[in-house]
Amino acid sequence: MNINFYYKLAKEKLFPLCRSLTGYGNVETLQILKKYEKFLKIKKFSSGKKVYDWTVPLEWRLKKAQVHDKFGKKIIDYKSNNLQVIGYSAPKKKIVNKKELLKNISTLSKQPNAIPYITSYYKKRWGFCLSQNKKNEINRKYDDQDKFKIVIDSKFVKGKLHYGEYIIKGKSSQEILISTYICHPSMANDNLSGIIVSMALISHFKKIKNLSKTIRFLFIPETIGSIAFIDKNLSTLKSNVVGGYNLCCIGDNRAHSMILTKYGNSLSDKSLFETYKKLKIKPKVFNFLSRGSDERQFNSPGVNLKIAGICRSKYGQYPEYHTSLDNFNLVSLTGLIGGFKVAKTAINNLIKKTIPISKVICEPQLGKRRLYPTLSKKNARYSEGIKLSDFLQYSDGQNDLEDIAKYIKVSKRDILRYKNVLLKKNLIIC
Ligand code: ZN
Repeated sequence: MNINFYYKLAKEKLFPLCRSLTGYGNVETLQILKKYEKFLKIKKFSSGKKVYDWTVPLEWRLKKAQVHDKFGKKIIDYKSNNLQVIGYSAPKKKIVNKKELLKNISTLSKQPNAIPYITSYYKKRWGFCLSQNKKNEINRKYDDQDKFKIVIDSKFVKGKLHYGEYIIKGKSSQEILISTYICHPSMANDNLSGIIVSMALISHFKKIKNLSKTIRFLFIPETIGSIAFIDKNLSTLKSNVVGGYNLCCIGDNRAHSMILTKYGNSLSDKSLFETYKKLKIKPKVFNFLSRGSDERQFNSPGVNLKIAGICRSKYGQYPEYHTSLDNFNLVSLTGLIGGFKVAKTAINNLIKKTIPISKVICEPQLGKRRLYPTLSKKNARYSEGIKLSDFLQYSDGQNDLEDIAKYIKVSKRDILRYKNVLLKKNLIIC
């Protein structure tokens, strides 16, 4: 299936689902995706599980979120737009007057046509969200003494937090991690665009024979999902991941943006800069201090996976962000194809890089492998052995072959020769 297919699927089937950190909307989203990529694994964490400093939350099950007026007419129903109820709203059944109803309706006065997207994951609240215009209409239409019936039929249960994982095995255990999130309801750039582009990337890369590196795709609820995933897989990720990208807001056609890893000099950053150059794109470059999505977790101390972010219009930087105006009028097929091309090329660049990683902690004993003179004396010919040792010092997963050649000041031909010697002696993996 190509990007056109996933664009239509997202527009018609995924957009209306009520996704959140947990719940039916997420499961349904993953099940729909699995229909088209049967090797997508749907995995889960149980509510209450401790993951580092966090706890996997209770599952939010929302059945109804409605307001009826005194004539029994439904004037708010989240089913007409999921954003109309605060995400993770606590249950509420109450008859209220107009003043109390209006007090519990959030709006955006500066964007009177837009419904805001509001969540309260970690503190129990309830409430509705409407456009300012709709709220004004309710205010105009009803008298102060009119009564309204509020019903938020929600439950918090010990359930599961679901996520999706798709692995395309390459020849090497070295791995590229591509992550996107599945926790936003009814918004197109901030959420569905990442899913669409990831699915199109899966269909593209799974067809490539003899892929030199493994690619792992994640579809997880933001923050708690990535934290739980890292908690479960840290040692595998740390030994295998050589770079990757968080895909987020990657479907409008107004800009190309990237979020650098912490020091802006990782192989993920480098591959992405090479991509923009090749595609003749001038991106907006944001440093790590502008982070906001799961690059926050992947680059944390102790995790250090050096995952950069790829966006079109970056989250928080476009007026429709976190409102009902972030829809498929904003996200277009052209925009998505632009995002897809950047991600595809950046992944390809990472795949093509030779990234030597030393297999030995501390210097290996080169002498016993006949790579270094065993007689230590003044003026001995150490130079070849020293270069091999230099090569190994920079084989820490942070450099490709080109970088190492620069650091240790040798030619392209020599660097290849050193690599082959160390590979043959089983001292590095590439
Ligand atoms: Zn968001």
